[in-house]
Amino acid sequence: MKEAIAPFKEAIEMIRDAGGEALRSCFQCGLCTASCPWNNVRTFMPHKKITESKFGLVDLGEEDWWLCSTCNACVSRCPRGVAITDVIRAVRNITSDSIPRAVPASLRSAVASLKSAGNPWGGARDERTNWARDLDIPSLSGETEVLYFSCCVPAYDPKMEKVARSACRILKETGARFAILGTKESCCGESVRKAGNYELFEKLATGNIDAFRESGVKRIVASSPHCYDTIKNEYPALGADVEVVHLTQYLARAMDEGTLTIRKPFPRKVVYHDPCYLGRHSDVYDEPRKVLSRIPGLTLMDEINARENSLCCGGGGARIWMETKKGERFSDILVEQAVELGAEVLATACPYCILNFRDSILTMGREDVLEVRDISEIVDEVI
Ligand code: SF4
Ligand code: SF4
Repeated sequence: MKEAIAPFKEAIEMIRDAGGEALRSCFQCGLCTASCPWNNVRTFMPHKKITESKFGLVDLGEEDWWLCSTCNACVSRCPRGVAITDVIRAVRNITSDSIPRAVPASLRSAVASLKSAGNPWGGARDERTNWARDLDIPSLSGETEVLYFSCCVPAYDPKMEKVARSACRILKETGARFAILGTKESCCGESVRKAGNYELFEKLATGNIDAFRESGVKRIVASSPHCYDTIKNEYPALGADVEVVHLTQYLARAMDEGTLTIRKPFPRKVVYHDPCYLGRHSDVYDEPRKVLSRIPGLTLMDEINARENSLCCGGGGARIWMETKKGERFSDILVEQAVELGAEVLATACPYCILNFRDSILTMGREDVLEVRDISEIVDEVI
């Protein structure tokens, strides 16, 4: 399905706007392609996509536009500062508007649920807080200092609810005066934004921003690096006036201030995976390690590709809602590497990473040797 957009001047300008001057300055060095995790499992050449965009010779029907997980490995290494992921997002936006059938079917289904129900599974709004059923979380009041933003994954996936439950038990332990938005919380909208659906993103974001405003609370703690990044970097342009921290930052600080005490050991070998939106996108590398390294008995290891060089799990850029063929899952590589390192636990701090690792561990038959845990689950076990 060749649908070059060259004849449409407006579309070319949209792509150019997304890449700006930097797009013009690409000199085809190919570093972006060399950095891209897809080339571990198949061929994908972002530098060719940039050239096509520069000249408006884009095939909107090409699957490649939907491969990018927005891991930022290429952007962080580009010597000319080309906003490669912005260009890809602009092409996705044009595709969604002009030939919606070219959007991957599984993504279209998640987008439809987000539109109708405010979450990617289409779960009922009044079931959004089922995870919190017996936790006795205080209601919003004038006393509330912090809002805990759970993210749709722990809210609607029963196997993931322990992430939100652990986070709230720890927040209680620190003495934080916190509450949740309850049924007023919607998806932060990060994946639809990265899929180029700006209209739906704004609808979801402004709903949350209104709920923040009504609550009167100015501080948010998020479990997901995707929620954290989006509330921090995208919501202010839509009127948000809140401070947001990732849970691992909150925990590291609570340990420093003495409001979080570790009472039990965790005598296991743990390898930490840097989620792209916590690490490369947000520069939060030390706090998760600080939290884990203060747990007695825990042996902390880095992955083979750690910190700035971390290998993406494959779930960002709305990829979590798209099919990834067997043999092409980055999370399989990371699970295999963790086993080779001798780790018993693969710890991370992102619900998408956990979903992907959980699937990989199951499909690879590694449940007997490796388990995946969010940092909050480990901390919850030792306080
Ligand atoms: S790394 Fe930057 S300059 Fe080099 S080919 Fe990629 S986009 Fe162009
Ligand atoms: S952001 Fe990551 S997945 Fe997307 S093109 Fe760049 S390196 Fe590849």
